[in-house]
Amino acid sequence: MKAFLDLLVQGVLTLNQISCGVGVPRNNSYREKTLESFSDYHVHPDYSLDASGTIDQYCQKALELDLKEICFTTHYDTDPVRKDEDPFMRIDGKIVPLSEENVERYIENVRRANKIYSPMGLSVKAGLEVDYAPHIEERLRKDLASLDLDYILGAVHCLDHIAISASKEAESYFKRKSLKELCQEYYKVLGKAVKSGLFDAIAHLDIYRKYGQDFYGEEILIAHRGLVEPVLELMVENDVGMEINTGLLRKGHKEFSPGLEILNLALKMNVKIIAFGSDAHKVSHLGKDIKEAYRLVEKLKREAKIKIETGAK
Ligand SMILES: [Zn+2]
Ligand SMILES: [Zn+2]
Repeated sequence: MKAFLDLLVQGVLTLNQISCGVGVPRNNSYREKTLESFSDYHVHPDYSLDASGTIDQYCQKALELDLKEICFTTHYDTDPVRKDEDPFMRIDGKIVPLSEENVERYIENVRRANKIYSPMGLSVKAGLEVDYAPHIEERLRKDLASLDLDYILGAVHCLDHIAISASKEAESYFKRKSLKELCQEYYKVLGKAVKSGLFDAIAHLDIYRKYGQDFYGEEILIAHRGLVEPVLELMVENDVGMEINTGLLRKGHKEFSPGLEILNLALKMNVKIIAFGSDAHKVSHLGKDIKEAYRLVEKLKREAKIKIETGAK
């Protein structure tokens, strides 16, 4: 596995050569993750209710930024308990149900954009950011199998049906739970998401920090210890990649998601970093801090390699 990762780092292997779909047929076509193939794999166009910017506006911006690849990952939130809040999307300014037919329209629009922009040097991919919860796993399996997607990003946004990643809801969950309880529950659900085999990668692996840090304080930065390791192991075993998400920096955090300690652990355990994403919710977010994230990962890999080669602890 280590030799494999080294080849990847050296650019000998491309991500095209990695099989990462498990159970879901997809047109896997990842590029190798180098600065030269600068890409953003977590982008919400205005199909997401909490986002603005059309697919074309994002693609124009991507050309300006000299991105080589952009993957749209509109929200796919289908918990029936949250049927009044979540299962919708926006098409041509209208709010419509998150039905198979409407998701197919979104995918068609991304494919149309790829036809227009790929001759200009921008590859445009169709993905979804899927909110995972154990009680909807089987339904997700059916839904996702019928969609023609390039990339499925798994995320745990909700615990007890409360969105801990949303400013309006997070505190109502935090008030009822200790930091330990929050992390125990979060990593338990995340482990199930990894094992489900539904996802190419896991989004913002420690997203509970987004609003949790203000509530619980600095202790949250180490609250993953002893809980995240089994999840990282499952990611290796199940061939599920990790995303480096830069969005937390725009919320005043100093570290990407996952934070430095988890990232280091993941690299040492040979978890594949298969995507970098800005989690853009408006056009001005596109590509934000992604080059810094690439550089950080490359630096950590170099350091880890030096440590292994010299036998230093
Ligand atoms: Zn998310
Ligand atoms: Zn997102």
